[in-house]
Amino acid sequence: MNNTSWKVGSGLFINLWHDSWCGEPLYHSLNIQQNVLRWLPTKVCDINHDQKWLIPNHLDLLFPNLKNIVQKVILPVEPLEDQLCWNHVSSGMLTLKDAYEFKRLQLPNLSWTKTVWCKDVPPSRSLLVWRLMHDKIPTDEKLMERGCSLPSLCSLCLSCSENTFHLFFECSFAFTLWCWLTSVLDFSILKKFNVTIHPPKAPDIKEVIWHPPIGLWLKCNTDGASNNLTASCGGIFRNSNSEFICGFVDNIGHNSAYIVELCGAMRAIEIAASQN
Ligand SMILES: [Zn+2]
Repeated sequence: MNNTSWKVGSGLFINLWHDSWCGEPLYHSLNIQQNVLRWLPTKVCDINHDQKWLIPNHLDLLFPNLKNIVQKVILPVEPLEDQLCWNHVSSGMLTLKDAYEFKRLQLPNLSWTKTVWCKDVPPSRSLLVWRLMHDKIPTDEKLMERGCSLPSLCSLCLSCSENTFHLFFECSFAFTLWCWLTSVLDFSILKKFNVTIHPPKAPDIKEVIWHPPIGLWLKCNTDGASNNLTASCGGIFRNSNSEFICGFVDNIGHNSAYIVELCGAMRAIEIAASQN
């Protein structure tokens, strides 16, 4: 009720002391104690008659300033209903748009919102990122914070309890995904979200001599890797000028290094055949 005030009609519905109808509530401006109020008339209609102010003598004696405050409020010529008005618009009418604008202004301006809520991103994805940025993803951790007692395990890596930070930044699955995304998007979107990726250092790096293909040929190099949880393969196609033509990555689930190497080679052949 802080943002509303009453426009006095009959005064039947307005609390004389607690409602805002003549500026700040009278109990406050006249500094009236609560235990005194219960002996006093309660409605604005108790101090007007025939569309004129008529303050009872005992109130006038108790609060000499009351008359001055009250007489600043002009009563309608005809008896009308009391009207509750929204203070922030001249008409006093509260529309859904006004309410939205009023609440929206209370929120801080966030730099990332235009990146998330744009026409190029499906609304469901925007909502997911919005929830992530506000730490509102319904993970096991959030359920536990609300008092649900449950065992928690990340269903992607099966090695850690499920919480937002783990799911999006710490999990080996997420890590692979971020690495792939950064290679595709050249870090531009992640930089906007201030996400930094720290890829693990390769345990051993061996230099090899790579020869480009001749003439109009393309060369494809493939590789695969596996651990005890997952296996992935990938490959890149380059032309005789060593220029990148296209590439691929595939996650093939739990498999051996031999199988994943084979999958990489087969995928490269499939792509070559489809582009022929
Ligand atoms: Zn995980």
